[in-house]
Formats: sequence, C-alpha cells, structure tokens
Amino acid sequence: MENEENKKDGYENCCAMCRRPESVVGKLMKLPQNIYLCEDCLQRSFDMVSSTMKPEDFDQFPGNIRIVLPGDGLMPNQPQIKPKKKAVPKATEEPQDGEEAKMDIAKLPAPHEIKARLDEYVVGQEQAKKVISVAVYNHYKRVKNQNLPQYQDDVVIEKSNMLMIGPTGCGKTYLVQTLARLLNVPLAITDATSLTEAGYIGDDVESVLSKLLQNADNDVERAEHGIVFIDEIDKIAKKKNTNSRDVSGESVQQGLLKLLEGADVEVPVGATSKNAMVPMTTVNTKNILFICGGAFPDLENIIKQRLTKSSAMGFNSELKDAYDKDPDLLSKVTVEDLREYGMIPEFLGRLPVIFALQGLTKESLMRILVEPKNAITRQYEKLLAMDEVRLFFEEGAIARIAEKAMEKSTGARALRSIIEEFMLDIMYEIPKDSSIGTVTITADYIDHKGAPLIELRNK
Ligand code: ADP
Repeated sequence: MENEENKKDGYENCCAMCRRPESVVGKLMKLPQNIYLCEDCLQRSFDMVSSTMKPEDFDQFPGNIRIVLPGDGLMPNQPQIKPKKKAVPKATEEPQDGEEAKMDIAKLPAPHEIKARLDEYVVGQEQAKKVISVAVYNHYKRVKNQNLPQYQDDVVIEKSNMLMIGPTGCGKTYLVQTLARLLNVPLAITDATSLTEAGYIGDDVESVLSKLLQNADNDVERAEHGIVFIDEIDKIAKKKNTNSRDVSGESVQQGLLKLLEGADVEVPVGATSKNAMVPMTTVNTKNILFICGGAFPDLENIIKQRLTKSSAMGFNSELKDAYDKDPDLLSKVTVEDLREYGMIPEFLGRLPVIFALQGLTKESLMRILVEPKNAITRQYEKLLAMDEVRLFFEEGAIARIAEKAMEKSTGARALRSIIEEFMLDIMYEIPKDSSIGTVTITADYIDHKGAPLIELRNK
C-alpha cells in the first residue's frame, strides 16, 4: 500500500544503506523513523551481529531477530573519531618517573639536540643521523610556521620526505622508530611489498594512513603530524622487460605520489580496507613525514658502472675495479642511479632527501652490544641483577659474538639470536643456586670450549 502511495508522488523508497531503489532490490523492509532496508543489507547486519554477539544475547529477542541501526550502539567495535582541532603540534606530556624524556616538537629541538638523543640509541651511522636530524627539524619548522602571516609569500618550502638506502639489519627501521619515540609522534611502519594498486589483492596505499591513525588513537590531528615509514621500497621498482600490468610495482609508486605530495585522503577508521560498514574520515598528508627505506641490492653495481664509465676516458681514467672495494659506494648514489634501478622520476622527485646507511662492521656490532641505552647485554645484566647476580661480558666474548653475527650477513639482527642461544643455559641455571654472586661470559664459552666463570657470594 505504502509503496503505491510513494510511487504516486513519483518517488520510490531506497535502501538506507546501499541506496538502491525498491524497483531494483525488491521489497524493502520498513523500520521505525521511516528507514527502509533491503534484504541484502538486512542480512549483512544480521551476519555482523551474530559474529559479535554471544548466543545468550539472542535469547532476549523473539525469533532470534535483532535489527541493528546505525547509532543504536550495537555496531561492533564502532571506532570513535576524534574531531579535528587547530593544526598545532601537540605539546608532549612531562615524563613520568623512569620514563625517557621526550622531545617537544612544538618547541622544535635543534638538529644537534635531535642527533644527540639519537646517539644514545643508534650506534654509528653518523651521516645518516645528521641528515635525518636536519630533515626532521626542517619538516617540523615548516609545519609550525607555514600558517604564520609573515611567511605567506611565494617561497613554498617543500616537504622533507626521505629515502634511506642501506643493507638489511643496519638500523633503518630502528632509526625511524627511535626518532618517532623520542619526538613522541605517531609512527606507522609498512612494507611496500604488501601494497598493490587499488582494486587488486593486497592493501591499497591508503592503508598506510589507517595504520597511522590507529597508532595515533584515532586522533586525526596527531596523525597528521606523524611519520610513515615504508620499508622494502626497492621491491616496488619498475619491473624490467614486462608486458603485463605491474600492479605491485610501478603502479604502487604512482599510487604513493599523492600521499607523498600532500592530499586529503579518505581513510577507513579502525580497519585497513574500505567497505560499507567502516566509517571514514579525512586525513591530510601535507604535514606527514614519509620516510622510505630499502636495501636496494645491486644498486652498488649501477653506481660502480656509472663511476667507471665517467672516468674511463682521458687523463683521469681509473681502473675498472677501482670501486670494487669501496665501502662507501652507496653514499655516492644519485637520482639517476635510482631511476636506472626502476624508481620512477615523479616518485624520486617527492623524496628530496636521499641518504645511505653503511653496513655494520665488527667494531660497530661490538658497540651495539654494549653501548646503547637499551643494549642487549645491559638488558641481561638488569635481568640478572633482579636475582642479585652480577653479569659481566669479557671483551673477547663480545668480539666473538660480533664475529659470529658478521658471518650471518644480516647485520645487527643476528646479535640477539646468537646471544639468546647461549644465555639460555645461564638464565636457566643461575636461579637454581642462590650462592652464585657473579657470572662472567668468556670467549671460550661463546665458542663452546668452556664454561662461564662463576664466583660465589661472600658470606
Ligand atoms: P633494517 O635496516 O633492516 O631496517 P633494523 O633497523 O630492523 O634493520 O635493525 C634490526 C635491529 O638491530 C634493531 O632492532 C636494533 O636493535 C639493531 N640495530 C641495527 N642497527 C643498529 C645501530 N646502528 N645501533 C643500534 N642498534 C642497531
């Protein structure tokens, strides 16, 4: 009857969720407040509710029926979006007892202060720490001052997005993680290999922003001053000699362009994919700092070729293998080398700060074991100190651990697994005997040639 009435006005009822008219979806179900739903959407609501409600909850409703309306509080885990406020970087809270002091980006710590804090955690990589400190300082300075009337002129400062090149395990992720923690800004880490062009299996590039929003507790303003780290960026290099559509390579680079540049992006809240049930919010990426990182295997050969080609003629000609043993070859990288590698020029143009990290030497691995504030040996010392046992590592033992890690060629990643392997016995045995006062790890113990030195407590 009602339908006929509606048709008389020339209007047709539509489903409140999918917006399709009754003539397309069949008879609509009428709910209170003149809301109509089609069978499909109704079924979807039931499915969602039944996957989140316990069986006993259904007992309350006759015929196991319960209709979920938007806003009646029954939508499962409906995330809350914090409304946008004025875009001013948030001041950090005072550190609690025992917590590390955070820097306040609102007060713009100078590059040397940022680097000094990074030095406490990241060993070596001096040039990289310097470049990143300056880039971060410039980035937040730009964010802070861009709206001030005295800076409204023709000089528009570009974003300082970065591209970090360095072998695996040399501290790329660790550097960014430490930076975000010290600056107290939200960080999203994602892997470029999981991204695909929109519409294909895999995550859309926007999923990066939903992660950031999640890590910023759904506070859009905080997310808009965050850092996004995209790892394995070399894996989305343009595929050579291919005729098929490159949905996970060049297309992803294309897709990332607008994010890197700065755009309003519709982001699903509380999920990484868009669908009808997920609320959306808009995140502007203009002030988000994007850092891309990758190992770029074989890039050294491209650099080497260019260098030897350019010096192959004339008086300054060099031997063909002059650069074979150059440990610093990666730092000579240019945009042309990266283009040759398969990164598209538009993408590289949006990453103006390009720098390399060095592979770790035995000496740096030894320093990583003992020097950083949360060095792994310090963590074990602290654990044993809780049992009132003092733990020492002989210098020779540290050197042997570093040598073993070098053999694995996975940078500092190998350190933890090596140290955990032989600390297991110690952590198992020591609590058995309360008379033990000191344990010293020796090089022989690392080489399975002897036992650690144990001293008993003075009675
Ligand atoms: P990748 O360069 O592959 O991203 P990571 O940053 O994940 O490597 O490094 C792995 C681990 O090695 C880090 O969690 C960190 O503990 C340690 N590490 C690597 N490089 C350094 C460094 N320069 N100083 C201190 N620790 C480091």
